[in-house]
Amino acid sequence: KILNYGSLNIDYVYDVPHFVKAGETLSSTSRNIFAGGKGLNQSVALSRAGGDVYHAGAVGKDDSKILTQVLSEDKIDFSNIALRDCPSGHTIIQVDSKGQNCIILYGGANQTITEADIDATLAKFDAGDFMVLQNETSNIRYMIEKASAKGLKVCFNVSPFTDELLKLPLEKCAYLIVNEIEGAAMAGVSEDSDPYELLDKLCSKFPKTSFVLTLGSRGSILKEVGAEPISCRAFKVNAVDTTAAGDTFLGYLICNIATDMNRALALKAATAASALAVQVKGATPSIPRAKDVMEFIKK
Ligand code: ADP
Repeated sequence: KILNYGSLNIDYVYDVPHFVKAGETLSSTSRNIFAGGKGLNQSVALSRAGGDVYHAGAVGKDDSKILTQVLSEDKIDFSNIALRDCPSGHTIIQVDSKGQNCIILYGGANQTITEADIDATLAKFDAGDFMVLQNETSNIRYMIEKASAKGLKVCFNVSPFTDELLKLPLEKCAYLIVNEIEGAAMAGVSEDSDPYELLDKLCSKFPKTSFVLTLGSRGSILKEVGAEPISCRAFKVNAVDTTAAGDTFLGYLICNIATDMNRALALKAATAASALAVQVKGATPSIPRAKDVMEFIKK
């Protein structure tokens, strides 16, 4: 089983010619509303990759239908999602003409997860199950401590990155998933450091933790405890919207690791899945299915 104790956000996505500047009023050429949030996107990716996925978290009781509907369409269990008397988490996303994004995030219900919620959810999971986390929910320290003590494999995507994260018991995580900027901040090195030097620093700081380092359009490196690093170059594709690229990558990779797929193939499939995702606008609509990912790899 894969438990994702994760964020659920409603994404309001605006197409703009360029990111709005201080004092500027900018007209958007179109708006779309999607179910999103790193947590929800990762659950959808985990499920489309073939995982048995349980999403836990919290949403607002008045505005959450779009969120639970997407989870249910993707056959993700949402019986561990609490309903709250506040807005669901949401974002305002600008997408520029190059497909880059910038995001305002309001945590809403995602920030109301309590220790009692976590205890009740974890009671339904066992040692060996995987638990995926991102930095968009409350009480992450408690989640890591409780789940790791129970023997779950905690996979923490340290995103969005804040310095507060460094105070968490990260050494209890089985996997830490970081991009270059997050990895550099955790290792205390500059952002343009060599990725392998960066990984060496991270691995000596957290010797019992496996690392996934993503490098955007350059690809990624997987370094598991006791194994040599494996790298995969990104596929050259026409990126129109990188929203959820990292989430798609993570979902596929963690699902493939949870089913103990050969690691080179697991990494290649995750790379292919994210290459397909950047070619489609939006978050969940861009996350491909395993069948299409495998076909893309064969080409
Ligand atoms: P995050 O969005 O979490 O920072 P990255 O930007 O590193 O994550 O992207 C995750 C993965 O998505 C990369 O390792 C790569 O495989 C894929 N990817 C990202 N951007 C592109 C792109 N422009 N073209 C092809 N693949 C991409």
